[in-house]
Amino acid sequence: MKKHFETEAIRTQTERSQFSEHSTPLYLTSSFVFDDAEEMRASFAEEKQRNLYSRFTNPNTTEFVDKIVQMEGAEAGYAFATGMSAIFTTFAALLNAGDHVVSCRSVFGSTHSMFTKFLPKWNIETSYFKVDEVDLVESLIKENTKILYIETPTNPAVDILDLELIGKIAKKHNLIFIVDNCFATPYVQQPIKFGADLVIHSATKLIDGQGRVLGGVTVGKADLMREIYLFARNTGPAMSPFNAWVLSKSLETLSVRVEKHAKNAKKLAKFLEKSDYVKMVKYPFLKSHPQYKVAKKQMKLGGNIVAFEIKGGLEAGRKFLDSIKMCSLSANLGDTRTIVTHPSSTTHGRLSEEDRLEVGITNGLVRISVGLENITDIIEDIKQALEK
Ligand SMILES: *Cc1c(COP(=O)(O)O)cnc(C)c1O
Repeated sequence: MKKHFETEAIRTQTERSQFSEHSTPLYLTSSFVFDDAEEMRASFAEEKQRNLYSRFTNPNTTEFVDKIVQMEGAEAGYAFATGMSAIFTTFAALLNAGDHVVSCRSVFGSTHSMFTKFLPKWNIETSYFKVDEVDLVESLIKENTKILYIETPTNPAVDILDLELIGKIAKKHNLIFIVDNCFATPYVQQPIKFGADLVIHSATKLIDGQGRVLGGVTVGKADLMREIYLFARNTGPAMSPFNAWVLSKSLETLSVRVEKHAKNAKKLAKFLEKSDYVKMVKYPFLKSHPQYKVAKKQMKLGGNIVAFEIKGGLEAGRKFLDSIKMCSLSANLGDTRTIVTHPSSTTHGRLSEEDRLEVGITNGLVRISVGLENITDIIEDIKQALEK
């Protein structure tokens, strides 16, 4: 019988070795040995399920993938070196030259570069819709459209897309519906329940949760994962056993960490709502969020990202960042440490103001990845920086 989320995250484990260890050991090995020629032949022919070579599978990566498969309610999965290698390999494995993709415009920066700079090398074009243009999605679908792609909540503006609604459109047009579930984590949101065929994570973020290792994973329908697996096993974007070992341990505490992250984030969002220096606050579980109802339908918690608009625009945003004392200025997110970013002067600084506005980045937008410090200390730091 399938156990509860937290139990699966803790009790899904590789078989014990002859040493009867309690915690899964690190299988730092590139390859595996065979008893005889026949065993080797049968293994390569996939008549026998076993580890051959760590580019294909390794006990540590398998344990990590098995956990994510359970958590997302998927059928199969594969672990990648980074979130971007998970995203790129998934697209490369499933698309042919001349295929077409429909995606929300609010996607991770490197995903956007993949769509606009690299996939066109193989004559694969992407049509974009904005977060508030879901009613346009059907009009963007063409004869050669193969994938419908979204992230929700979006980065950095924390907008919410309706998974159920978009899942229905994908189904109606026979498209592969792929969701980057990085901001929510499988504890908060399981897109497969709402019709996603594949779910992708950058495990670098909340799955690790401690800012240590890079990782990525794709899980979903078995037939699609089979194509992705065959492509990956031959092209080499595999996760290292060490990172898989770290990440599998991290999953054991995912539920408690995310609960605390979300509790802190909601308290900070409520504080910001009352601040005189703040024009607007966006957090999925605040009633003032434009997609509050959709967030409540598809998310268990509001997550750990809070976005707000500081009064005074670009200059005020930069000054705010310079006045931060405890929180970190960093591009990462989903860490134990609270991280503050000002997208329009940093990560999205090279875009024109018009392009930034397309993805909801106003000049005064600040994104906070709320960590696990005591919330009073977090609020104190943000408060003194706002006052400056
Ligand atoms: C960070 C991130 C990625 C890329 O992951 P890496 O592990 O840095 O390659 C993809 N999507 C989202 C939403 C992210 O935040």
